[in-house]
Amino acid sequence: GLVARVQNLTKTYGRANDGTRVDALREVTIGVRRGEFTAVMGPSGSGKSTLMHILAGLDSPTSGQAWLGDTAIEGLDDTALTVLRRRRVGFVFQAFNLVPTLDVKQNILLPFDLDNRKPTASETFWIDTLVDTLGLQDRLRHRPHQLSGGQQQRVAIARALATRPDLIVADEPTGNLDSRTGRDVLTLLTAAVARYGQSIAMVTHDPIAASFADRVLFLADGRIVGDIPQSSPEQIS
Ligand code: ADP
Ligand code: ADP
Repeated sequence: GLVARVQNLTKTYGRANDGTRVDALREVTIGVRRGEFTAVMGPSGSGKSTLMHILAGLDSPTSGQAWLGDTAIEGLDDTALTVLRRRRVGFVFQAFNLVPTLDVKQNILLPFDLDNRKPTASETFWIDTLVDTLGLQDRLRHRPHQLSGGQQQRVAIARALATRPDLIVADEPTGNLDSRTGRDVLTLLTAAVARYGQSIAMVTHDPIAASFADRVLFLADGRIVGDIPQSSPEQIS
């Protein structure tokens, strides 16, 4: 099955009549398969972030279709789309969007509060694994401004993974991290796929990060110019 897909997706920003028109994506058709780790690479401005936003249901196509699971995005009102996203998608973007008044633990548990529920025993076990692997044990009572940039990024990653959404959309999740911490993050993403069958779409410029993926998509000038399966990605148990 596919956890997200786009068909003939075109995304245009700006207007032709004042010279601001940009074709960010042109007729892109791809699906993210269940339990697949996809890396998305390509030069700056090639449309990677735009594709991530649309796959995650954060932005809508100019033309073409997008689905999250079996649900077409087209025609959903904002409330329905928000509920769908909250249930199915975890995001790791460059702006961490941590809540400044909440401590680390509260930020990580926020998706459960928004869904009006408490973590199950199994989710609690997974959250403990996230906190340990990301080295946040000693920072649970700290607020975001008391953390380094790298630590804030790790909190955002823990929050995105906590509810084990079908789809994790990550825009350069290892971008600000040293190589050791970056490797820990990739370990967690790989574990999320292997243990829970989650799917990941991850933008990266780092060939080492991409080597952990099952599949690498290459974008150039708003088009998919490569879609390469990796038969033996880096394996971490
Ligand atoms: P990438 O993530 O590969 O760097 P983006 O998806 O951010 O590429 O951008 C693709 C193209 O769309 C670029 O030319 C960029 O300038 C343009 N673009 C992205 N977002 C906007 C926006 N909100 N308004 C206008 N142009 C945009
Ligand atoms: P990183 O390599 O993760 O970016 P830094 O070198 O920025 O880490 O930070 C090192 C240590 O200093 C971290 O343990 C962090 O918690 C602490 N620290 C960084 N900024 C602040 C701050 N504004 N207030 C309190 N502690 C901070």
